[in-house]
Amino acid sequence: MLSLLLVALIGVVLGQVLAARLRHFALAQAEQSARVATNVSVAPLFTPADLQRNFVPLDDARTAEIDRLLGPAISANGIVRMKVWNREHWVVYSDNARLRGKWFPSSALLTDTLRGSTTREITDLSRPEEQEERNFGRLMAVYVPLHAAPGADRFTDDPTQPVLGAFEVYIPYAPIAASIRSDERRLYAALAAGLLVLYLGQFRLVAGASRRLRRQSAENAHQATHDRLTGLPNRVLFHERLEAAIADATRRGRSVAVVVLDLDRFKEINDALGHRSGDEVLVQIGRRLQARLRAGDTVARLGGDEFAMIVPAIEDADAALVFAADIDALLQKPIAVGAFDLDVRASFGVALHPEHGADADELLQRADVAMYTAKHAHSGCELYHRDNDHYRPERLELAAEVRRGIDAGEFVPFYQPKVDLRTGAVVGAEALVRWRHPERGTLAPGAFIDVIENTELIGPLTIAMLDAVLADQAVFAEAGVDLPLAVNVSARTVNRRDLAATIAERLLVHGVAASRLEIELTESAVLDNPVRAKEVLGEVAALGVKIAIDDFGTGYASLAYLTDLPVGCLKIDQRFVKHVVDEHRDGAIVTFSVELGRSLGLTVVAEGVEDVATLQRLAALGCDVAQGYHLARPMPAGDLLAWVAAFDPVAAGVGTTVEQRGAR
Ligand code: C2E
Ligand code: CA
Ligand code: CA
Repeated sequence: MLSLLLVALIGVVLGQVLAARLRHFALAQAEQSARVATNVSVAPLFTPADLQRNFVPLDDARTAEIDRLLGPAISANGIVRMKVWNREHWVVYSDNARLRGKWFPSSALLTDTLRGSTTREITDLSRPEEQEERNFGRLMAVYVPLHAAPGADRFTDDPTQPVLGAFEVYIPYAPIAASIRSDERRLYAALAAGLLVLYLGQFRLVAGASRRLRRQSAENAHQATHDRLTGLPNRVLFHERLEAAIADATRRGRSVAVVVLDLDRFKEINDALGHRSGDEVLVQIGRRLQARLRAGDTVARLGGDEFAMIVPAIEDADAALVFAADIDALLQKPIAVGAFDLDVRASFGVALHPEHGADADELLQRADVAMYTAKHAHSGCELYHRDNDHYRPERLELAAEVRRGIDAGEFVPFYQPKVDLRTGAVVGAEALVRWRHPERGTLAPGAFIDVIENTELIGPLTIAMLDAVLADQAVFAEAGVDLPLAVNVSARTVNRRDLAATIAERLLVHGVAASRLEIELTESAVLDNPVRAKEVLGEVAALGVKIAIDDFGTGYASLAYLTDLPVGCLKIDQRFVKHVVDEHRDGAIVTFSVELGRSLGLTVVAEGVEDVATLQRLAALGCDVAQGYHLARPMPAGDLLAWVAAFDPVAAGVGTTVEQRGAR
């Protein structure tokens, strides 16, 4: 609108300037033709003598002759009236007989003309000599000076010669005005059309450009707040919406839940089927989640294979867990990618405002913690619980204290013996770390191990344990108890390229044979980075160190790794061992694990054997080795030799059945 106004203004100004020029030229042209007519037709009929100072009227014959000669020219040129003046303003001749030989007072125009310039006016016919012309309407009067050289007998158009008189013609102004008006109209029309075309042209251009700009900026805004792949809101927008939801719920006294979900083993899909398939999975999951949403809910992709949802105005934690279970059910349906139907599972974390977090940042972080807990425990879904939170400030303080404790040698191994179920011999011991804390007494790993497993501190701790265990081994062997000792190694450590080199070096330092050392690691430690694990474990096994899979059966791993890695031993998790004597289905897993271990040629160890019945059932199943409270609790190094010496397999029920014992 503004630009249109400006263009219109330009049009008006330009029009006015041009119209003024137009009028000027139209009049100048009329004047020019009057001058030419004068010089060509009128001047030759008169002589300078006719305009002499002391005025003598022309005689009748002369007048008639001039009338005759001028008459046709006058009517042909549309001339209304003409006069020839001398310098004393006597009318020497006029086509109107009544004006001939008359004297009139000079007008400003006539005076100017007698000074040498052609003049003109649009006259209102107010002068006395003009009375008779009033019925012609508005007229234009043009006065042309008549020049002659002194003594010459003809007029000349040389303007430097003296002016002897003036010739005056009246022409009707109406045709001139009409032609001016029509020219003006044409001018304005052309101007308006031109400017309009110009305006429309630039309007199209500007409108197009501004439409593109608007679209671009809308796109930019969308990109800044949305995930490119799935089109879902991204972390930024999620955060914004979560803040709004919290503010709203706070006003209304309601709770807000954040549900975070992270796909399990998404990396495997990427590795096995390629990133395009991985992307396709993410897109399809995004669609499913979005389809499930109610108005007001938000689902976002936080990055990678992590999604998050806001459930505003939720009743309580149970309702939030039901919601998460619903979403979980939604993901159960296989996802078709290319020729494959993929079973994609996810781990869920739930956190509620206000119980678990005061603001959006805290709430999201808490939901993340819960999700990691679920992932670790393979439990599918967890509600936030502060005990699982490794990121709490007090936990961080703990990490700092662990560092100090390692340097101070406060971490020591306790040993839990392993007993052969057929022979009753003590075949080894597992080293379990204890923290002899200066203030809090002896701490079990549950109080600290998962905090440091997530930090670089686990490296120094593992090496400290390795050193202590190998030193103890040398001492035990010296005393005649030459047992292999097992050290637990966490995922982070398995991924260290220098693990084998470190172990080799420590073995050398302590003068212990590689066969006297075992390492225990969990399935998940292997699966975090299978390629690397295979490499590192291959080197460790090459040293002659035995590798045991800890907590076997809890890791959701495909069993392929058992043949792929240099594994020598399976340790069946105590969760299954507990049920080996009752009818619980978990017992079946023990049976299966024993069978599997045997057919792969692995030593099978049962952990957490708490009573004789379990022990004997395991023996009957063909399990090789038992470890547990029934045999011995983990004990300080100083107690192990005495325990080994005192151990009575028969009393412990090893090597015999209950019935046999009874009979004896
Ligand atoms: P784990 O490797 O599965 O160790 C076995 C755990 O079961 C030990 O707990 C042991 O005391 C306990 N246990 C043994 N027999 C029985 C039984 O009959 N009944 C019951 N209920 N429990 C039994 P602990 O010593 O508290 O260790 C817990 C976990 O901490 C270990 O589980 C291991 O994963 C980790 N851990 C221990 N020492 C180290 C270490 O030096 N390095 C690393 N990275 N992790 C360690
Ligand atoms: Ca272990
Ligand atoms: Ca275990």
